[in-house]
Amino acid sequence: MDQIRIGKFIAESRKSRNLTQRQLADALSISDKTISKWECGKGLPEVSLMLPLCVALDITVNDLLSGEKVSSTDYQKKAEGNMIDLMKENEENRKRMALSIITGVITVIAVCALIVIASLIDLPTIARIILIAFSVAVAAVGIAAAAMLEMKAGYFECPYCKELFVPNMDEYVKGYHTFTKRRLTCPKCGKIGMCKHRVTR
Ligand SMILES: [Zn+2]
Repeated sequence: MDQIRIGKFIAESRKSRNLTQRQLADALSISDKTISKWECGKGLPEVSLMLPLCVALDITVNDLLSGEKVSSTDYQKKAEGNMIDLMKENEENRKRMALSIITGVITVIAVCALIVIASLIDLPTIARIILIAFSVAVAAVGIAAAAMLEMKAGYFECPYCKELFVPNMDEYVKGYHTFTKRRLTCPKCGKIGMCKHRVTR
């Protein structure tokens, strides 16, 4: 999906209806910064906003996702292509999420097994220490891999303005988190909150 093209098309459609970014934003109950972000090609409207946006701009969702007015002869073909692109994006995110969970589970099992071996089997002290050091290393690598995959899978949702965003690595690693939420700074409203992880848009 070509975000730059879609952004330009949003700007064109807005201007042709003599709407300012502010007016369009008000019609959608969102901030004008979000409109500006879309128009600069830095992100797509989330699915729940697509229809109201298209109504406000008097275009179809198919036009929006194609980044141009789609002629009726191309309509079906473009619509299918756009739908598949959206599905692919969601599917990739789901795969990453599943892989992240699998990596996490394997890590926990491996570390538990190593600790059981280290404590139950009669080993010289040095072997025991090496085994424990090794299990700590396995845990670190496993957790890092699971976290990387999880970060790349989907978006985090700001609890205040509902913005969807991908955090940077630094903030992601430092953020306090529960199983489904993470403490992050919203790039749109600037507030810090427990952001819910969402795999799909
Ligand atoms: Zn926010």
